[in-house]
Amino acid sequence: MPEFQSVRGFHDLYGEELKKFKHVSNLIREKLRVYNFEEIILPVVEYAEVFQRSIGEATDIVQKEMFTFQDRKGRWLALRPEGTAGAVRAYVQNKLYALKPYVKVFYEGPMFRYERPQAGRYRQFHQIGVEVFGSLDPVVDAELIQLVYEILSELGVNVVIEINSIGCKVCRPSYREALVNYLESVEGHLCEVCYDRKDRNPLRVLDCKVPTCKEAVKEAPKMVDYLCQECKDHYSKLKDYLSLLSIPYRENPYLVRGLDYYTKTVFEAVSTDLDITVIAGGRYDYLVEELEGPPTPAVGFAVGLERLSMLLKEIPPEEPLYFVAPFGDVMDYSLAVAKALRLEGRRVELSYRKGGLRKQLEFANKLGARYVVIVGDEEKAGGFYTLKDMETGEQFRIEFSPAM
Ligand code: ATP
Ligand code: MG
Repeated sequence: MPEFQSVRGFHDLYGEELKKFKHVSNLIREKLRVYNFEEIILPVVEYAEVFQRSIGEATDIVQKEMFTFQDRKGRWLALRPEGTAGAVRAYVQNKLYALKPYVKVFYEGPMFRYERPQAGRYRQFHQIGVEVFGSLDPVVDAELIQLVYEILSELGVNVVIEINSIGCKVCRPSYREALVNYLESVEGHLCEVCYDRKDRNPLRVLDCKVPTCKEAVKEAPKMVDYLCQECKDHYSKLKDYLSLLSIPYRENPYLVRGLDYYTKTVFEAVSTDLDITVIAGGRYDYLVEELEGPPTPAVGFAVGLERLSMLLKEIPPEEPLYFVAPFGDVMDYSLAVAKALRLEGRRVELSYRKGGLRKQLEFANKLGARYVVIVGDEEKAGGFYTLKDMETGEQFRIEFSPAM
C-alpha cells in the first residue's frame, strides 16, 4: 500500500464512476434550465452557528456529523454538511428577496459529514440542491416533486416517491406531545439512542432503522391526524396537483427528516432496488426568519449525486474515438491529420507511443477507439490515410493533403 492515502471517507472520483456522476449532474442541470432555476455558488465553509441555528442543535448532523474547527482568531467554522443553510444565509445577506417576487436557485458541490463510511456513504459527498424562496403555494411543492420525478424517470432508476406533511408551529406541538406520550408507553422497546432522543427530538424516533424501534412505532400517532386546517388544505392541494400531473407517490405518515427546519411537506425518493434514499426535501417556512431575514416561506430538495450514480445501470455511449496511429517517420504528417480531424469536431487521440501497426492497434483497443487512423510512410508519400473501423474491420482510403 502506498504511504499516502486519502483521508478516511474522502474518495477520488474518476473513470467510469465519474462518467456516471457527470451524466447525472448534466441531466439534472438540463432539467433545471428548463425549469428556469439560476445557479448560485456557495462557500464550502460557513460559521458553525449558521448550521447549528438552521439544522438544529438536537439533530444527528449537528451533534455528531459536523466537521468543525477554529480559525486563527478562534472563531468556530464548519465544512458545510448540507446546502440549504448556506443558501438561506446567502439569500438573507445579499437581499435576494429585493430583486424578484420569488427566487429559484440551485447549487452543486461537495458536502461533509463525519459519518461511518460504507457503500454510498462518504464523509465528502456531492449534492445538487434546489431551493425556491418566497411562496407558500403548494404548487411549488408539486413542481419540485415533478422535477424530481422527471429526473429519476429520465435516468431510468426505479424509485418510489414518498410524501408526508409534518405540520407547522400551530399544529406540531400537540402532535409532538401525543408522540412523546406514546413513545413513553413503549420506551422499553426503544434502542438506546431513541430512548435518549424521545424527549429532545421525538420525530426522529420514527426514522430509526433499528428493527425493535421500527416495530415499536408501528402504532404511533400520525402527524396527518393532527394537522391544522391550513396544513391540511396545503397537503390535500399538493396531492391534487400530483394526481393532476400523473406523478405516482406513496403517503408515508411516518416520514420525517433528520433536520429540524422542515414544515408541512416533506418528501423522499427511495430506490426500490437498494432501499436507499437518493433525493430528499421539503418545505421550511420559518428558516429565513430564523436566520434573520424577512419572513419567507421556502421549499427545496437535495440530490445525493454519488447515491444516484450508483443506481445507474448504463449511460449513453460516448461519441466515437479516433486513434491516430503513426508508424515510421511520419509524426509531422500525423499531427496534421489529427489537427484536421479535431477541427471537424471529432474526438481524436494521437498516439504518443512508438511501435509497429500491431502495437498501435493494441493501444487503440485499450483506449476503446472506434476508428484507427493509420498513417505510415506509404500514406504520407501518397497523400492519404487509412481509416480502419474497429467494429467491422473495414478499411477506407481517405485522401488528405496537409494545409500546413
Ligand atoms: P441518510 O438517511 O441516508 O443519512 P440524510 O437524511 O442524512 O440521509 P439528507 O441530509 O436529506 O440525507 O441529504 C440528501 C441526500 O444526500 C440523501 O438522500 C443522500 O442521497 C445524500 N447523502 C446524505 N448523506 C450522505 C453521505 N454521507 N454520503 C453520500 N451521500 C449522502
Ligand atoms: Mg444522514
